[in-house]
Amino acid sequence: MSMNSPNLTIENLRLALSANSKAAVQLCGYASRAAQEQHPCVEKLFSACSLAHRILAGNHAKALQEFGEELPLVNFSIDIQSSQSNLHDSLSTSSSEIADIYPNMIHQAELDEQAHAARSFNWSLIIERQHIAYYSQAIEHLEQGSDCHLPRQYAICPICGDTLSAELEHESCPLCGCSSNLYIYI
Ligand SMILES: [Zn+2]
Repeated sequence: MSMNSPNLTIENLRLALSANSKAAVQLCGYASRAAQEQHPCVEKLFSACSLAHRILAGNHAKALQEFGEELPLVNFSIDIQSSQSNLHDSLSTSSSEIADIYPNMIHQAELDEQAHAARSFNWSLIIERQHIAYYSQAIEHLEQGSDCHLPRQYAICPICGDTLSAELEHESCPLCGCSSNLYIYI
């Protein structure tokens, strides 16, 4: 076995591409459901997270193409419940990804000396952590009837998917350095 054979990293990029593609579609469905239930702040959160996952999926796809790999067909079904249950589902999916999935993928990419793939996994890890904080706030808002402390508008970095509150001033993306002029606002 070759020490630097990146087969495991290639497989991990496929898995990450697939998971993020599914998340982008699923979160879009969750946003529609939140709109129907008249939870505008939750709708906006899901829409922002959906876009972030599209950007993350795009980065995993680019890293995969650098290996000359075909992009896999991504096949999945989505399940949309009440907003409360959709938030719990999002929280538990993101939590398991940050607990071991992305840390293991980053570790493997480093062993394989694949810096670009490692960066792509690392952005996913950091952005999942941001989303977890938002999901927790949204759950508190829906379940305890507390005021919504979620951002009223999100600024999303088109390069890395960083999902920031638009109410905070940024000159450039704290994660990738991209100019904030390029941010997408939701
Ligand atoms: Zn960025």
